[in-house]
Amino acid sequence: MKLSFTPHTLYFKRPFKIAHGVRTSTPIVIVELEHEGLIGYGEASMPPYLGESHESVLAFLKNVSSLIEKYKDPFEIDTILKEIDSFAPDNSAAKASIDIALHDLIGKLQNKPCWQLFDADKNNTPFTTYTLGMDEPEVVKQKIEDGNEFKILKVKLNGDNDKAIISNIRSITNKPVAIDVNQGWKTKEEALMMIEWLADKNVLFVEQALAKNNLDDARWLFERSPLPLYADESIQRYNGIDKVKDCFHGINIKLMKCTGMHEAHKMIKRARELNLKVLIGCMSETSCAISAAAQLSPFSDFSDLDGALLIKNNLFDGITFTEGKITLNDMPGIGVTMK
Ligand code: MG
Repeated sequence: MKLSFTPHTLYFKRPFKIAHGVRTSTPIVIVELEHEGLIGYGEASMPPYLGESHESVLAFLKNVSSLIEKYKDPFEIDTILKEIDSFAPDNSAAKASIDIALHDLIGKLQNKPCWQLFDADKNNTPFTTYTLGMDEPEVVKQKIEDGNEFKILKVKLNGDNDKAIISNIRSITNKPVAIDVNQGWKTKEEALMMIEWLADKNVLFVEQALAKNNLDDARWLFERSPLPLYADESIQRYNGIDKVKDCFHGINIKLMKCTGMHEAHKMIKRARELNLKVLIGCMSETSCAISAAAQLSPFSDFSDLDGALLIKNNLFDGITFTEGKITLNDMPGIGVTMK
């Protein structure tokens, strides 16, 4: 197998306001893994707050390329991924790019879509949430109109003007809303007060209300919250699930946090054993990484896979949405073509 990779920058259609600040672009790296004339595509997306960058991903891929090239084919995926994971700690997005390319290649060699390889029910996909970000009322109104076909809205809150943001949305639409606080509420009491206020406003769940390491307060909130609570920043990888199992109702699994599809699938199974709900999320990504995550979406309770819809320069065609519902295709692998 031969590995090659190229850095790109994705640009948002609109500047994206979240608790970490305003962003207009995201660095990504596209990976191509070649074997017997077929190419498996993979992607690393590196939002700045996660600590990876073009430099770190390119360096990691350069370092592991000879290691990957010594394998005859991608079917030794378990061994390959284990070896790559133990090569260096962290580098989750870089690792995910290889994992996705391996899955794409395996699917293409067997002429089967990955959802079939994972034994997922193609028709059981969820609606994706559609992200509004944090904006001025008139921008939010425009974004709601842009996302008219989507059935669930995702709203970012951070403790400033939260009630005004929700009241504004509720004056425009009564669609169900998922809330993402991105660790923005300062105390457990503030969080509980807000969740109680939100409870009769058609809110589906609240994601990452408190600081990621503050599990004692997360547990306190979990015992009292009238709405389901999901962990995002508090959970990265498989071995972190048991630590958060008594602090949240569910977990947000993202390929870029957990090193890819292989581990995400393991996490879903473990979450089910622990009676945890599963949300499959994404970063700002092209349809490459989004389509990879979508292969697992039939196993989720909710999916938050609108990342490719918010960018100007999507480099791939992949899975689509039908009135907001994730629509998997029958193409082999992760179901993408490069534009
Ligand atoms: Mg989140």
